Amino acid sequence: MHSISRRLSLFFTACTIASILLVTLTVNLTVTNKFNQYMMDIQNKRYERIIAYFEDAYKKDGRLTENTGIELMHEAYMGNYCITLRDQHEQTIWGMDPKEIKKQLNMGTMPVQQKGVYTTKTFKLKEGDKVVGYVDIGQYSSVLLTEEDQNFKSSINKSIIASGLLTLIIITGLSLYFSKQFSSPIKEVAKLSVDLSKGNFNSKSVVKSNIHELEDLRKSVNILAGKLQFQDMLRQRLISDISHEIRTPLNVLQNNLEAMIDGVYPVTQEKLHYLNEEVIRFGRLINNLNVLKEFESESTKLSYEIIELDQLLLELCHDFHAPSEKKKLKIDFVIQPDKKFSITGDKDKIKQVFVNLLANAIKFTTAGGRILVQLYEKNDDIIVEVVDTGIGINKEDLPFIFERLYRGDKSRQEIEGNGIGLTIVKNILQLHDASIEAESEEGIGSKFTICFPKIKKP
Ligand code: ADP
Repeated sequence: MHSISRRLSLFFTACTIASILLVTLTVNLTVTNKFNQYMMDIQNKRYERIIAYFEDAYKKDGRLTENTGIELMHEAYMGNYCITLRDQHEQTIWGMDPKEIKKQLNMGTMPVQQKGVYTTKTFKLKEGDKVVGYVDIGQYSSVLLTEEDQNFKSSINKSIIASGLLTLIIITGLSLYFSKQFSSPIKEVAKLSVDLSKGNFNSKSVVKSNIHELEDLRKSVNILAGKLQFQDMLRQRLISDISHEIRTPLNVLQNNLEAMIDGVYPVTQEKLHYLNEEVIRFGRLINNLNVLKEFESESTKLSYEIIELDQLLLELCHDFHAPSEKKKLKIDFVIQPDKKFSITGDKDKIKQVFVNLLANAIKFTTAGGRILVQLYEKNDDIIVEVVDTGIGINKEDLPFIFERLYRGDKSRQEIEGNGIGLTIVKNILQLHDASIEAESEEGIGSKFTICFPKIKKP
């Protein structure tokens, strides 16, 4: 198995090598072709010049002799080709020996292609329309190249190879750099996932990526880590809260019973009554946990019906009138006029939601305070607000109040409760596709906003 960076580098390098080979081959073929064409033109011009030279000589002397054009021999020898002059009867007048050329080629630095099969080309020498002789030009390759020509050709090839190698080095470097850009964030995220699977929820991926999708991936895994950390904290808190909730009444019972057995406390009606209350509180906690378990496992059966929310809230405000008076609180119900506020839901469960919210509002508001229940319509929603001028919730506690057994800061521990009411509220509302939000300021009061979807008209 390869790492991403290695795989990408190999891929880029392989692509580069393939393209360099292709480009080199194409450029080389084109250059060689064009070059040979050019040399062929030069060679043809040479042939024409040699023929014209002999024809001129014939014109001047009126015949071809052993001395005709003999001065061309040196040039031919230097140019690695052979000239043979023949008369009109094709009898050789003078000629060069191809072996001499071969010897020279074998001694020299001529490339192999110059040392091929010896071939000759015969050209007619004419005066007007009359053939006056023949000249054979023979050479060991189809195109004659001088040493400079060869050097020129090979320097072009060398440049192509050098630029190919340079490109390969640059591309290898770039591919290593770019593949690292892919692999580093992926490696980081993989490492973070391993950390999370080991329970190190405070790990974070900090190496930012400038690749959109990888940056999204990094951010999502960081969010996941944050959520897992939050859940882990809640889980630990829940365990400690449950053990605390259970330990307190048990301690009270144990201490009192031991004191009675030891005869420190007399067994009075009043004492037994007090202990019984602790047992009832304990039972209530277990019951609430049971209710919660039912909601969380979604095993609660809801019997849906049309609920007139305005009616339900009016009755509830009426029921809570006495307890709020007892605490010297004022409770008001304000409803948007000329509107119907029907929702579908389980009436008992919805009632439970507002009982919990109103009970909290009364519980956490001191004498002289005010509780306001507002009902109105907004877009496609029906909104209920339960507002109080109570002690409020501090900023640190606010995000957790809907969690199981969460009971806010220590001072609240003196107020009776078990931190389950709002969890139940949230669960019931979720089952009704409704939402709840809490806003609060310590010392000023709290506002719970519940949002129900309106019944859709058929
Ligand atoms: P309980 O009321 O039994 O403690 P809840 O789940 O109903 O449990 O509420 C959780 C916590 O949220 C409370 O302990 C309290 O700190 C805070 N809270 C809820 N409602 C209010 C309110 N109206 N005013 C101030 N604090 C509140």
